[in-house]
Amino acid sequence: MEVLAQYKNMKDYMFQDQRLETFSEWPFDEDSSCNAHKMAEAGFIFCGSKSEPDLAQCQVCLKKLDGWEQDDEPWKEHKKHSPSCLYVKIGKKEADMTVGNYFDLPLERRRNIMKEEYETYRASFIEMAAEVRKKITKLRKLKK
Ligand SMILES: [Zn+2]
Repeated sequence: MEVLAQYKNMKDYMFQDQRLETFSEWPFDEDSSCNAHKMAEAGFIFCGSKSEPDLAQCQVCLKKLDGWEQDDEPWKEHKKHSPSCLYVKIGKKEADMTVGNYFDLPLERRRNIMKEEYETYRASFIEMAAEVRKKITKLRKLKK
């Protein structure tokens, strides 16, 4: 549930203009190759804070990237850090996307959210299992 809630607004960033609006606090100006426009074009939304002022996230693969340099190319960085992302694989500017692309991308995003939710539950289950195992071991020792 936690994971799903975290991404409930992600569908609102399907279009480049919507993503661009999130970059009002982006630390790089228009002269840099990773300016807000190019970040949004490469599928990213800004999700930074005071402690992480250049954190951006792909709206499809959900990969978060920070540590951006003035001359980084957003498309190149996206491809390098998330080569299996469908947005990267399609690799088109918004105007060149097909209707089919616009059906596939939200489905892929949803699949990635489900994958992350599964991983979160799996990790907490493993943690819980370890605790139960400890308790059982303790009880066995008491019994002896
Ligand atoms: Zn991506």
